Amino acid sequence: MSEILDLTCELIRRRSLTPDDAGCQALIAQRLQRAGFHCEHLRFGDVDNLWATHGQGAPVLVFLGHTDVVPSGPEENWASPPFEPTIRDGRLYGRGAADMKSGVAAMTIALERFVATHPEHPGTVALLLTSDEEGPTNLDGVRRVARHFRETGQRIDWCMVGEPTAKEKLGDLIRVGRRGSLSGVLVVRGVQGHVAYPQLARNPIHMVAPALAELAAVRWDDGNDDFPPTSFQVSNLNAGTGAYNVIPGTLVAHFNFRFATSSSAEFLRERAEAILEKHGLDCTVEWNLSGEPFLSPAGGRLRETVIGVCRELCGVNPEQSTGGGTSDGRFIAPLGAEVVELGLVNASIHKVDECVRVEELERLAGLYRAIGERLLGMGAKKF
Ligand SMILES: [Zn+2]
Repeated sequence: MSEILDLTCELIRRRSLTPDDAGCQALIAQRLQRAGFHCEHLRFGDVDNLWATHGQGAPVLVFLGHTDVVPSGPEENWASPPFEPTIRDGRLYGRGAADMKSGVAAMTIALERFVATHPEHPGTVALLLTSDEEGPTNLDGVRRVARHFRETGQRIDWCMVGEPTAKEKLGDLIRVGRRGSLSGVLVVRGVQGHVAYPQLARNPIHMVAPALAELAAVRWDDGNDDFPPTSFQVSNLNAGTGAYNVIPGTLVAHFNFRFATSSSAEFLRERAEAILEKHGLDCTVEWNLSGEPFLSPAGGRLRETVIGVCRELCGVNPEQSTGGGTSDGRFIAPLGAEVVELGLVNASIHKVDECVRVEELERLAGLYRAIGERLLGMGAKKF
């Protein structure tokens, strides 16, 4: 069994449901310490974060991942138990196989091999792991670690995120940025009454309908070369008492913007509030910005290096995407780091019978190692 497969299986056996790390980080810290890394366990609240570094000073290359997984759902729906890694037909099955214990194992072993070959490398190579990526708020995960880095003055030049990004095979898609996510809870106040006496009531459903229609029709921006236009979606709309003869007194709507770098959260907030005001609603909006958009621009050193490595070692020209949800890269990018994501095929993530192709594990570690070597100027083939 290969070293990477072995480590991935060890991690899958640990039932690390968010935010429980279940000993994954201790296992990795033990290995990296043996390889000469300095390991810091940054525990915030009930979240474990591991910060392992080798070398000193700039440039700083960080590999970023998470040890937590989402629940398996009913275990009997799985062909083999989700926390017992199983190999069938060249695939490794288990919760976290794709998202992202294989990625964590590949990053760990790539780093071990990198420092064994280049013990005197320039700058710093590091691994940052959290046990709260899949949770709803991520308050004490990478978001909190980034605050710690800001306080301690830890700089990061390049951040390689190991989330599963590939569509069909390793190297066919990388993420060069992510859209921002801005949510709002809109509460519209009306006056409750009898449907037969509308003159004595004020119907919040009727009042909000034209405002929502306008919000849904607005073209917030045109996007740009790297991002599609900003989208606005209502996800929940609730009003009514259940009775057919009562005009409700209040209405609650949940909505979300996925936004490009061409719009700021402040601009979207102000424009949305102006529309609500124009429609004369008696309302409040509670805003939550869960992540600013970020982009590793074309020509960026990390982006170009990752593309070059995919072309040479995987024989594919990777699609350079900013699609999908958010990632922990959103907390590292504001520190001034260039962030790119490259990982295994994501087709089965969060599903029953989550799996990856075994032969891609070793290849992924090879890609990570080559990226490190090229960025830090060792054994780099010019391209
Ligand atoms: Zn993930």
